[in-house]
Amino acid sequence: MVKPIVVVGASVGGSTAANTLTQAGLPVILLERDLSWVKPCGGALPPVAFEEFDIPESLIARKVHKATIHSPSERVAEIDVAGKKRRSNDYVAMTCREQLDPYLRSRAVANGAELIEGKLTGLSVEADGVKVTYAPKNSRASRVIDAEVVIGADGAYSTTAKLLNLPRLPQCVAIQERIVLPPDKMARWEDTASLYLGEDISPDLYAWVFPKADHVAIGCGAGPGKTKAMRQLLANLKARLGDQIAGGKTIMEEAHALPIHPRKHMAFDRVMLIGDAAGLVAGTSGEGIYWAMKSGHNAAKTLAEVLPQTSAAALRQYERRWWKEYGTMYRFLRWLQRWGYGSRRQMEVFTDMCRNRDVQQLTFESYMHKRMTTVPWAAQMRMTGDIIAAQVRHYLPVRAAS
Ligand SMILES: Cc1cc2nc3c(=O)[nH]c(=O)nc-3n(C[C@H](O)[C@H](O)[C@H](O)COP(=O)(O)OP(=O)(O)OC[C@H]3O[C@@H](n4cnc5c(N)ncnc54)[C@H](O)[C@@H]3O)c2cc1C
Repeated sequence: MVKPIVVVGASVGGSTAANTLTQAGLPVILLERDLSWVKPCGGALPPVAFEEFDIPESLIARKVHKATIHSPSERVAEIDVAGKKRRSNDYVAMTCREQLDPYLRSRAVANGAELIEGKLTGLSVEADGVKVTYAPKNSRASRVIDAEVVIGADGAYSTTAKLLNLPRLPQCVAIQERIVLPPDKMARWEDTASLYLGEDISPDLYAWVFPKADHVAIGCGAGPGKTKAMRQLLANLKARLGDQIAGGKTIMEEAHALPIHPRKHMAFDRVMLIGDAAGLVAGTSGEGIYWAMKSGHNAAKTLAEVLPQTSAAALRQYERRWWKEYGTMYRFLRWLQRWGYGSRRQMEVFTDMCRNRDVQQLTFESYMHKRMTTVPWAAQMRMTGDIIAAQVRHYLPVRAAS
């Protein structure tokens, strides 16, 4: 009989992996260091996640149908959340992680996964299995599980990756406040996800206001080396929002790292990495929930296919398929992040680009439904023309002046 698969981290990625493994009839142990922890997160999810992972819509705090992008000089791109073809499920889902994570975790447990609250502290990969050492919560005595394979779903600071001696990934930091607004102020945000650009609020990423059922989540991200500046960046964002959030009461403050570069390898002898532990956050959008769930599902599916083989060569089938399907998207979004958020002027150009209707529809088509569509020749020409015009508009006066 096969030994249990240990999934480290019972958040969105780990719980999805565990669920897929139980459905394949494999024994699973979900190891989570702290079941009461709420992952700091904006909670924005595409509708496809609810269909693909069979998540009830009751977990959606709000469906938003509009997006705005605000340039550093407060020029605004107003966007309808819709793809090339309008569908009834065109929206961005706003969720709260204190509801989403426990749901996914409980489902995996209901389907047969064993949940242990304890922290991974050691891994020893051997010829016939992996010895997984953990410290149960509120106990000093370590325990050991004899596992077949380990799936590391333990986030940006992955202990699994550390124990494999893998290098630390470059990381962004994101900070967020959850604020309950007076009803008259809340109305402005109810159906809109707003993104803000500016070096004083997010030097190389973006800031956001996401509406939830009874509050807004206001946050900003910044690249490596900016951790100490985060509180000031958030204060600047709140000052910029000014009267629009006046009278609000902060109910939660949260911050966490998120990786900005995928790992070179996500599978090793008897160990696989998924989600943030594998660095699978998409550039430009910072979207990581869907990709954690998708990679968890895919890793589990590949494992179920290749068992009893557990070598790196066999498990790397998971990463080969991943990069074949999504490699171009990750590369493009990383490039777009550097191009669009690289300087104040580029942020203005980026906002102008987002005013183009073809860009809006293609962006939301691929975000909401995770479908790459071919871009008609005429649309390509319109987009290229608008981007060149924006580039000229924002650079020409400076060149002329110098
Ligand atoms: C402020 C902020 C806002 C964000 N907003 C969005 C958004 O709006 N939309 C979006 O798609 N993405 C967003 N992200 C990214 C998203 O939160 C992550 O990509 C996603 O949570 C990754 O899921 P995961 O399952 O890989 O890891 P995580 O959600 O980080 O979970 C890791 C789990 O592992 C556990 N763990 C860690 N170490 C151990 C150990 N040693 N032993 C046992 N358990 C351990 C942790 O307790 C945790 O439960 C945001 C991130 C931040 C920081």
